[in-house]
Amino acid sequence: MVEQRITIKAITLFRESNGLFDYDASNYHRCKIKLNEDSIIVRQGENVHSVHHSSLNNLQNNPTILALFYKKNRNFMLSSSINKTEGKNWEKPWIVINSLKTTEYLLSEGDVFRLGKIKFTIKEISGYKQSEVHRSVLHSKTLQNGGLGGLVKSKTDLSVPIHLETQIISNSCRICLLDDNDDLNPLISPCFCTGTMGVIHIGCLQRWLDSKITQNSHRDVKIYTWRSLNCELCKFKYPNKILVDNKTIDLVIIEKPPTTNYMILESCNNKKKCIHVLNLDDKKVIRLGRGYDSDMRIPDISISRNHACINIRSSGLYIQDLNSKFGTLIRMKKDICLDLDNKFKIQTGRSLLKISTSKPWSFFGCLFGCGKIKDSDDENQRFRNATSDSSSNNL
Ligand SMILES: [Zn+2]
Ligand SMILES: [Zn+2]
Repeated sequence: MVEQRITIKAITLFRESNGLFDYDASNYHRCKIKLNEDSIIVRQGENVHSVHHSSLNNLQNNPTILALFYKKNRNFMLSSSINKTEGKNWEKPWIVINSLKTTEYLLSEGDVFRLGKIKFTIKEISGYKQSEVHRSVLHSKTLQNGGLGGLVKSKTDLSVPIHLETQIISNSCRICLLDDNDDLNPLISPCFCTGTMGVIHIGCLQRWLDSKITQNSHRDVKIYTWRSLNCELCKFKYPNKILVDNKTIDLVIIEKPPTTNYMILESCNNKKKCIHVLNLDDKKVIRLGRGYDSDMRIPDISISRNHACINIRSSGLYIQDLNSKFGTLIRMKKDICLDLDNKFKIQTGRSLLKISTSKPWSFFGCLFGCGKIKDSDDENQRFRNATSDSSSNNL
């Protein structure tokens, strides 16, 4: 194993941007940092610099923490989390998909991807190969093969069902006022309300919840949207499933396509929760964007008209950015082992860090040019506007 050296080229937008990075911007602050020990990358104003790992708890002027690098078996690791973030400004790192070797990323259940400011969690993929999501250590050279997400504890709608003790309830239903109580439509007490308001038929609760959910379809994507599924009196948040007498009952019913090839995503926008059910049968590509011709239309200003696409192959579902203004990103839920002679980018808030690894300088390295970071690869196609052309903007 060879000792590593890390070079980070950071560019930072001058203004706060609500966690967005404008990839079309032409005006930004540049910094270059070299690391050979455990370090934290911090931002103060626009200036990005490194401090030693040990000073995490004594940072001056409360800077924004952008990344944490530590050494393990002589390899550098990029951390996905920071201990004791309380009271610290910590902007979570996101991998820039465009910076990966194949400019694509293999999606798996548990991945969270972000278009502009909208985050999508993959709840279920059916009919396609996925990454070996159980791998705990990921290598920077193979990031395109996926696996950055965590384990999915529950699929689709499936928050863990809450268990309801079956009680003999003598009250009548708070909705229909009837007191029939049979196995098919039992009276239950699902929230914190008590007395006459605490009892409801499962069927009445399902219908009431259903009335709060809006269903829409656009092409082969079905969208379920709701603001909150809380009890209006005690504000208890109803789960999507409950367990009554060891029987799991869906409170929110999400219809899956009549095919094995589909994907289910969950997103949150303006406090509205959305479940997107994508029928992928006979499809080669799904286009995501704000434009009307997108297969999955996301009406948000931070999303470009043609923002990203999901390429559908027998080897899996691959997400790709389409030169969007605010980028297509994947959340890092696992630490990444940095391989030699490899580079990729992470975005943390309004900063973009290009991370490259090389051997440290040595006499022979200098002579033969090893260990030198090549600047030719540096041309970031994404900063096309920095040079001139702005007509191709994908706003
Ligand atoms: Zn009822
Ligand atoms: Zn209640």
